[in-house]
Amino acid sequence: MHTLDNYDFTGKKVIMRVDFNVPLNDKFEVTDDTRIRAALPSIKKILEKGGALVLMSHLGRPKEGPENKFSLKHVVPRLSELLGKPVKFADDCIGNKTLEMKKNLQPEEVLLLENLRFHKEEQKGDEDFSGKLAEGADVYVNDAFGTAHRAHASTTIVVKFFPNDSMFGYLIKSELESMDKVLHQSEKPFTAVMGGAKVSDKILIIENFLEKVDNLIIGGGMTYTFIRAQGGKTGASLCEEDKLDLALDLIKKAGEKGVNLLLPPDNIAADQFDNNANTRVTKSDEIPDGWMGLDIGPETIKTFSDVIEKSKTILWNGPMGVFEMENFQNGTVSIAKAISKATGAGAFSLVGGGDSVAAVNKYNLADKVSYVSTGGGAMLEYMEGKELPGIKAIRG
Ligand code: AMP
Repeated sequence: MHTLDNYDFTGKKVIMRVDFNVPLNDKFEVTDDTRIRAALPSIKKILEKGGALVLMSHLGRPKEGPENKFSLKHVVPRLSELLGKPVKFADDCIGNKTLEMKKNLQPEEVLLLENLRFHKEEQKGDEDFSGKLAEGADVYVNDAFGTAHRAHASTTIVVKFFPNDSMFGYLIKSELESMDKVLHQSEKPFTAVMGGAKVSDKILIIENFLEKVDNLIIGGGMTYTFIRAQGGKTGASLCEEDKLDLALDLIKKAGEKGVNLLLPPDNIAADQFDNNANTRVTKSDEIPDGWMGLDIGPETIKTFSDVIEKSKTILWNGPMGVFEMENFQNGTVSIAKAISKATGAGAFSLVGGGDSVAAVNKYNLADKVSYVSTGGGAMLEYMEGKELPGIKAIRG
């Protein structure tokens, strides 16, 4: 398989799909350049090796054609600053003028194309449109992990036009390596820590992980569906009444597969969904009427941390409580610290899914875990055991 390292880019026109879907403020300045920086290693490698580089991305969710607030031209200044060189801009991602710009692009030059989603054909995965994107390029690189689960023109269909010249960039490569390590080469004991609001969002991933893990830790709002299903009193806590049978089924499956399923023995219950609510520590199955569990309790923190600290592979997805509120963040912080400690002692830890990523960033622990995934939905689908179209197109 081609890689950025083994491919000869000398004199080649390269088209690379990146994820520059960055937040802009009301002056159209980039307020968080994480995603641009994530693409820099691949960009620099291609330029160093003598390629002429065309970049394409989406930005936001434009509804009907071009809209200034979704224009990728706003990204040019920051990209140029980070690269330390000028970046050309084409005000449409296809068309004659753009093709001319692609043709004239010289080795080591960079051309950024306008938002792909200004054309509805992008998300439809239109083949003609994909062909137009491919025009004027010799090789295709995909480094947009966040959209790899979508069979869009620029992420998947375009690969057809480069039957012998397509490859992943470094970001996708490292995402795949980390996820495959957890899914297929996990050192035991392997612990998955699942949290967040709803069990319904996490069913497929839990089912897939029941085949693989030694310990399955459940925390966060989804706890109470499991507790209620077993006859516990959960007061006004989050509970998905229509998922009670499913929760019992998952508990049964865990037993059959010899997976140690850990539910929180205690929690911090509050009399309102409010940072300043009155609180008390209760058993998770003895929450008084009108009270709700908003964080895991001290005994739970200890039990979960012990299991985590003895693990050699850890996947973490979803917070342990309403960590956005200061008074209910302790469980999430403590679990993040236990994962960091295990990592320091040699475990491999992968953190993925929007809110757990936000949590490790908030507590400055991102560099104390092995890998923080950038691709929310794409990561979850891969972890559910699904094949991502953008990955399959290249990997086969
Ligand atoms: P998710 O997107 O499914 O990972 O859910 C993340 C959200 O779950 C965060 O906004 C948390 O505030 C919320 N959450 C976590 N624990 C609880 C809980 N015990 N009760 C209500 N919401 C919770």
